[in-house]
Formats: sequence, C-alpha cells, structure tokens
Amino acid sequence: MKLLEYEAKSVFKDFGIPVPKSVLIRAPEEVAPHLAALGDTVVLKAQVDVGGRGKAGGILKADDADAVRAARDLFSREIKGLPVREILVEERLPITHEYYLSIAIDRSTKGPVILFADAGGVDIESAAQEDAGAVRKVTLPPLLTEVPAFLMRELLGDAPKDLAPVINRLYRVFREKDAMLAEINPLVTTEKGVYAADAKLIVDDNALARQGIAVNRDLTDREQEAEKHGFAYVELDGSIGVIGNGAGLTMSTLDLIEFYQGRAANFLDVGGGADQDRVQHAVRLVAGMPDVKVIVVNLLGGITRCDEVAKGIIAAGVAPTVIVRMAGTNEEEGRRLLAEHGYRMLESMDAAVKAAVEAAA
Ligand code: GDP
Ligand code: MN
Repeated sequence: MKLLEYEAKSVFKDFGIPVPKSVLIRAPEEVAPHLAALGDTVVLKAQVDVGGRGKAGGILKADDADAVRAARDLFSREIKGLPVREILVEERLPITHEYYLSIAIDRSTKGPVILFADAGGVDIESAAQEDAGAVRKVTLPPLLTEVPAFLMRELLGDAPKDLAPVINRLYRVFREKDAMLAEINPLVTTEKGVYAADAKLIVDDNALARQGIAVNRDLTDREQEAEKHGFAYVELDGSIGVIGNGAGLTMSTLDLIEFYQGRAANFLDVGGGADQDRVQHAVRLVAGMPDVKVIVVNLLGGITRCDEVAKGIIAAGVAPTVIVRMAGTNEEEGRRLLAEHGYRMLESMDAAVKAAVEAAA
C-alpha cells in the first residue's frame, strides 16, 4: 500500500531523516495561523496518490501574503484526475542541489537495491534514460543492517558525505517498515543541512497486519470485501463475471472467454471447499460490478459439493444471468436444484463460456 507524502515524511522523521517544517490542511483558511512558523515563503503540495505532481500542477510556491489564495487555487484543481482534499504546506527550502535516492527490492538478487543519482528532481526518468551512468546502483546482502562503507562510497561518488546517514536511515525505514519502495526525490542540500523534500513509501501488502495497517486503501471497496472473504479476486474491464474454484480452472475460464472473443469482468477464485455462504457472497460480489451482464460459474466438485454451490447461487438471487458448469460431488442434486429455479447448467466448460459470451454480446 502506498503512503501519501505526509505520511511517509512522518515515518522518515521518526527514523531521524530531516524533513521540512510542515502542516497538513484540509481547507484554504487553515493555512493562515501557521504561516508565521513556516517562514516567509511556503510550498503547497497536493496530497494525491500520483507521481509527477510537480509537472501536473500539484505543487505551488507562495509567500505569506498569497498563501491562502494559492491554497484555494490548489484545492480547486484536479491532479491527473484526482481531487485535492489535503495539502501539505511546507517551509520553502533554499535548495542548493537535488539528489535522487531510492531503495527497492531487486528481483534478480532477491535483495535490497539502492539507487542514487546526483541529478535528482522531477526529470530523473529522462536523465536516467539519456545517461545510463547517471544513476548509481548497489545491491546489498539482505542481512546487513547498514550500508558498508565501500558501497556507500560507490553510491555517493563525489556527493557530500553528510548524505550517508540519510541513506542508512532510509535503509532502516525500508527494513523495519516492510517496504517495497522507499524513495526520496529530491533529497536536497541547503545551507542549513540535508532534507527529504519529497517522500514515497510503499508497504508490502503482505505485511500490512504486522505494520498495524487495518485497511489497504489501494484496494477498491469490492477488493476489500473479497479480501475479507479470502477470495482471490482481480477486477478487469469486461462484462462477463467469472467465478471458479482453483486458480488454474478460473484462469482457463478467462482464457476461454478470450478465445470466444468475450471480455471478462473479473477473476474470482472461491478457493477449496466453498459452502453455500461463500458461494452466495462471491456471486453477489461479482453481480455488484456495474458492467457485469452475465456470470459464468465454473466449478469442480471435490470437497466442494455441487448442491451447496447451487444453494449459494439460488440464495444470492442476483439480476445478471448466471450460467453454471459444475462437475463432481453431488452434481445431480446441484443440477436438480438449479433447474428447479430456472438456472442453466451446461455440461462442459466450453458450452458454458460460449453461452456466456453470447449472452453478454
Ligand atoms: P513530485 O513532482 O510529485 O515528485 O513532487 P516533489 O515534492 O518532488 O516536488 C517537485 C519539485 O518541486 C522538486 O524537485 C523541487 O524542485 C520543487 N520543490 C519542492 N519543495 C521545494 C522547496 O521546499 N523549495 C524549493 N525551492 N523547491 C521545492
Ligand atoms: Mn518528487
């Protein structure tokens, strides 16, 4: 899950990384009482979950006299389609240089990788593309708790030595916060010292419980609901809802939909041994997606009993057509129940998917 800049900065600060003085506001007038403490000039930064805010108009500079007006302006903007609900107002740093620093997981070494560049800021991507040597990179053995001096020298090159403690502290953040990415761009030098002028922190979704994060904000309401029930669920953009048991069977259902030139609305694997209740939740969840016209349920009865599945589908009682293909335990009883309630149960996966694609067209 991605943290917003102000949340990431609060974490960085706890780990001893200097950040600018700041205040978070939710309405333009809220900035006024804080201006004296923040200094003559401030930077207003939209707290929206997108990269490249600066270039998209999400960052404004202002002095005391026009800070409220600038805040009003920024609150009225949309940044890459997102409304601005919170603004971080910061003291304006007299920046002498902008560096780039990030720590992520290197999939090939299966360990942390630290990237550092002398030319940080909003143009880091193009700078890195134009000059492959612009970004220096070191990978670390996972058990180290600090960057060894020889690797630190390699990273920093001729950059000031007082950046080294920030790198080690960010590495501690990365380890202790179960991060997928910890980034400071730009990491700036000023006459008063070094600061994280921006902050990005992505926490591994698998570590949210350990990090005390109860709700994954990156998920839609439906994705959160699916997680609550333990469904493996992914939203796609078609109109054919898909429910299967087992990742393989569900994936092949998606493949077959594609083969018949239909478009799946989702992937949902109810898992093994689904009972009436689970199936009912799954059907309701998929039926709730606004574009779904038809739902194909493709299940193999083993521990999962087909009569339980049928009862779940019937109990869900949803508006989109539900087309069922089931085979295995208690198949006959399942077929009888479904037929009684007017549902179509087809013999083969092929026939069920074909029927679903036709119904959606
Ligand atoms: P991003 O565009 O979302 O990455 O937003 P950043 O927080 O990185 O800000 C973009 C750019 O705004 C930075 O690279 C700086 O050049 C500039 N900037 C941000 N904060 C300050 C500040 O306090 N003082 C000055 N002079 N420039 C700033
Ligand atoms: Mn930035």
